[in-house]
Amino acid sequence: MSKSLQPMSCPSSAETQPVPASAPPHYHFVTDPRQPETFHETPLPGAAQDLIATGHLKAIGLYKSYRKGSAEVPVLRDLNIEIVRGEFLAIAGQSGSGKSTLLHLLGTLDAPDQGEIHFDGRRIDNLPAMDRDLLRNKRFGMIFQFYHLLPELSTLENVLAPLMIADGVWSYMRNRKKHHGTALSLLETVGLTHRLKHKPCELSGGEMQRAAIARSLVAQPELLLADEPTGNLDQGTGQDIMKILRTLNQLHRLTIVMVTHDQTLAQQADRIVRLACGGIENK
Ligand code: ADP
Ligand code: MG
Repeated sequence: MSKSLQPMSCPSSAETQPVPASAPPHYHFVTDPRQPETFHETPLPGAAQDLIATGHLKAIGLYKSYRKGSAEVPVLRDLNIEIVRGEFLAIAGQSGSGKSTLLHLLGTLDAPDQGEIHFDGRRIDNLPAMDRDLLRNKRFGMIFQFYHLLPELSTLENVLAPLMIADGVWSYMRNRKKHHGTALSLLETVGLTHRLKHKPCELSGGEMQRAAIARSLVAQPELLLADEPTGNLDQGTGQDIMKILRTLNQLHRLTIVMVTHDQTLAQQADRIVRLACGGIENK
């Protein structure tokens, strides 16, 4: 039998938690855009619909554990959170408190052991892989601490990559002009028009994160999930990135969920929640 590791200051959980068999999360794009977008078509059962009608993004009773050797590492325990459309939410908490785990679950990059995630009134954590791909490709944008740009592509190509992959060759070629316009306008918003042909290795950290922001927005998502987007940047550059996120939130009503351990940055969000002992701290 596996033993359960508990953070020292947290009460032990009475719950028996299933251990996930899932691989580490990774971001992948839609490969076949001809697939029907069943995400929009699947209605929820009536009772569940009433329960989640108010939230834009909502997590209900989330549990998540990892296995480490013979031990089980409980990370999230009955976590509940609701995010309103247009909100800029900061998720703070100590290193190892489960911030990235929560963000990955919200973004459907990984699945909870128990609990549900709803987006615009529809359950999303249990969607088929193809529907989750579509959701991430069309309605969610994601940025990470280490940018995750494709090293062999230029800045402009990196920003266009999600559209190239989602559209397929012929459709992409037909809409090439429009896509270029969108990408260039985003690159202008993040102040990168002077680095269009640079490869990631020829960019500074701040420039790479700007490119990653532009890429995350090229499909015009409604929700941006950001995992320590300034974690690898100096304070001034981090503040510049924060200004860009703020502008996108205010001008385009983009809902932003940002994980950060930086209190100064967190305080610039509309609301801060702290993760502790597997849940949202009540303060
Ligand atoms: P944070 O982002 O708040 O620093 P994480 O969500 O990355 O925390 O991790 C929470 C806990 O889960 C940590 O103790 C970490 O070691 C553990 N953990 C994260 N991912 C895995 C994994 N794939 N396998 C085993 N343990 C993991
Ligand atoms: Mg993290």
